[in-house]
Amino acid sequence: MSDSLKINLTILPEEGLRLAFSEDARWFKECFSADELPEFSLVRVDVNCLITRSGDTIYIRGELAAQISQECSRCLELATIPINGDFTYTLVPAKEENAENLELTAQELETIYYQGDFIDLAPIICEQIVLQVPMKILCSEDCKGLCPNCGINLNMGSCDCHSDVVDDRLAVLKNFKVKH
Ligand SMILES: [Zn+2]
Ligand SMILES: [Zn+2]
Repeated sequence: MSDSLKINLTILPEEGLRLAFSEDARWFKECFSADELPEFSLVRVDVNCLITRSGDTIYIRGELAAQISQECSRCLELATIPINGDFTYTLVPAKEENAENLELTAQELETIYYQGDFIDLAPIICEQIVLQVPMKILCSEDCKGLCPNCGINLNMGSCDCHSDVVDDRLAVLKNFKVKH
C-alpha cells in the first residue's frame, strides 16, 4: 500500500505524473515513530497531486482533503474536523559534497533533498497533514466547554455553580447598553 507512493523518477513522464489516492489511519501512524506520533489521529485523507521535473529538480504540487479527530480543547469530547489545503514542494538531489550542510539547508521550508531514483510521497503528505491541522481543535466554534467548578460538559447540561468568570459576549452587550 505505502509502496505505491514511492515514485520512480526514471519513468516520470515528460508531461508529469498526476496521482490521486486515499489513505487511512493506519497508514498515517506508520509515517511516525511511536514517540513522534501527533496528538490527533487521521480518519481519512484524499490527495490529488502533480509531479513534474525540470532537469534534476522535482516539483510536487497538490491538494489534500482530510478528516482528523482529536479531543476538543474545551470540552474534551472527541471532535472530527475537516482539513483542506494546497501544498508545493521542490526536491533537489542531495550531492555528496554538500552532505555536511544537508541538515542545515534542509530546514528551508518546502525544499527537500532526495537520493537515488525514488521519491517517497508518504512522509511529504504526512508532514502536510500535520502542518495544516490547527493548533486548537474545537468540536464547534461555540463549544461551551466544561464548568471550571464541577466539570460538567456545558454543551450537554447546566449546573448550579456560580462562576466569577465574566462571559465575553455578555460583557460586550453590557457596554453596548451603557452607551445608550
Ligand atoms: Zn467542545
Ligand atoms: Zn458547575
